[in-house]
Amino acid sequence: MERAPGREKSLIIVGAGIAGLSTGCYAQMNGYRSRLFEMHDKPGGVCTSWQRGDYTIDGCIHWLTGSAPATSPLHRMWEELGAVQGRQLVYPEVFMRIEGLDGRTLVAYTDTDRLQRALLELAPEDKKLIRRWVRAVRAGTRLELPMRPPELAGVADKLRGFMRSLPFALRTRDWFGLSVSELAARFKSPILREGFPQLGVWPPPLELSALFMFVNLGYICAKQAGYPVGGSLAFARAIEARYRELGGECHYGARVARILVENDRAVGIRLASGEEHRADAVISAADGHSTLFELLEGRYVDEGLRGDYQRLPVFPGLLQVSFGVRQRFEEVSPSVMGLSLPLREPLRIAAQEHRRLLLSLYQHDPTLAPAGCTVLKLFIQSDHAWWAALSKDPQRYAAEKERLADQLLAALETRFPGLSSRVEMRDVATPVTTERYTGNWRGAYQGWFPTPGAMRRRMRKTLPGLEAFYMAGQWVSPGGGLMPSALSGRHIIQLLCARDGRRFVAWRPRERPRRAPGRAAAPAMASLPVQAPRAERSTP
Ligand SMILES: Cc1cc2nc3c(=O)[nH]c(=O)nc-3n(C[C@H](O)[C@H](O)[C@H](O)COP(=O)(O)OP(=O)(O)OC[C@H]3O[C@@H](n4cnc5c(N)ncnc54)[C@H](O)[C@@H]3O)c2cc1C
Repeated sequence: MERAPGREKSLIIVGAGIAGLSTGCYAQMNGYRSRLFEMHDKPGGVCTSWQRGDYTIDGCIHWLTGSAPATSPLHRMWEELGAVQGRQLVYPEVFMRIEGLDGRTLVAYTDTDRLQRALLELAPEDKKLIRRWVRAVRAGTRLELPMRPPELAGVADKLRGFMRSLPFALRTRDWFGLSVSELAARFKSPILREGFPQLGVWPPPLELSALFMFVNLGYICAKQAGYPVGGSLAFARAIEARYRELGGECHYGARVARILVENDRAVGIRLASGEEHRADAVISAADGHSTLFELLEGRYVDEGLRGDYQRLPVFPGLLQVSFGVRQRFEEVSPSVMGLSLPLREPLRIAAQEHRRLLLSLYQHDPTLAPAGCTVLKLFIQSDHAWWAALSKDPQRYAAEKERLADQLLAALETRFPGLSSRVEMRDVATPVTTERYTGNWRGAYQGWFPTPGAMRRRMRKTLPGLEAFYMAGQWVSPGGGLMPSALSGRHIIQLLCARDGRRFVAWRPRERPRRAPGRAAAPAMASLPVQAPRAERSTP
């Protein structure tokens, strides 16, 4: 993209999820004039919370990768985005409690020594594999993601990346290409064979990559992935505030219907209202499928990309069934994910059979419920197509949600007797809810599902034959997640800076760039203490 002399370059960003907000913040820091267009009336995308009476239902964060340590580049990124300052982060001692029908419980601690001891006590016959597995989780704690986009990585960057990931690769080399359930099948003990796949959060029949689990557990066990008290919408709003402070513009209730293209160059957008806006470049941080096949009408999709959208698995739809309960659950220690509960009789939900329920108890966030009360939430993988068909009949759809809440409450009664009588609030969000509020294709709330094959996939952030257009967010970061989405926005601005021959800079709210690259940031920073911003070489 050439720079018009004497003029700031303008960017349009589609979608104010975490990726769009991050793109906007780094755009402003680097002297681009950016505008965000979001179809919803608030920021955050899937990183959101909603209010039901006195209760707040948190719709997203369990762990925020990069929440610590303060010295890590990922933590610095969250600080640059204004997301973590002044926010209390909680690191529960337990990742998940997996209860068995035989009364035994697998407690997955977030301290690897304690985790190993607990596993060895439960299943001494699997001593060797348990020790190897825990060593792999520990190696996962030392992985570091490249802060420079792979597109700009030179030989030295690649070598450094290789050296950093070597210990992890060596520890997990026999398990490359394995799914969590394939790895679980290697245990002899029945409780580990059943419980282990639950630790992956997305249990079979989904084919979650074992490496994905190691990386997630690695960050959690290293206390580098905490829960931000206040919940997901507050977290997203903090980044939105940072964006505005940097001079960015947010337009809500602004659904983008088309990306305007002239001579194979993105030149702006047309909103559903018919309004048009023009810019030097357009970045879509919205759902990948609608970006490619609706906003760009499928004109810049080559065979490879079309094949990805036809063949690669996406996250399954998600049912989030929440209850506000007049009760504290002191006897259940706070945990990252909650309880995995076995069902005596399988439950049929949306034409699928379920043998376990994953229940999160939000005891560790007092801001979500009145004193003495707790929000409980069930996470249930559920078929988007089934719900989409049902939602065509609004009455049946509403009735099914009510029936489901009754059915699930009855199932929870067996674990927490008397629970129903203390329920003050109930709420059911289906995969159609996710799709309606965030536009994510098939309700796939986290984009591409990280199977062993998809884990190694790198998705392009530009399109063949289309100039001045970029994609950020979970649809270009297989596996999704807050940190990869935010990082992808940072990467896009690094790519733009490299193309424009600028030095990429990034700074935290109380820092001031020595040489303000953009008009917007400098005035707001003028009276604040001076610290050097981080500048990066932007050319390969
Ligand atoms: C229940 C749940 C739990 C999760 N837990 C975690 C966790 O613990 N840790 C973690 O790291 N990640 C977690 N994630 C995943 C993480 O939240 C997402 O991967 C990440 O937030 C995706 O951000 P994004 O900006 O790429 O996409 P999105 O959040 O989907 O944002 C896209 C935005 O674009 C807007 N948009 C779409 N189409 C248009 C259009 N045509 N015009 C204008 N705007 C448009 C949408 O409204 C939306 O705001 C979880 C997600 C869910 C749903």
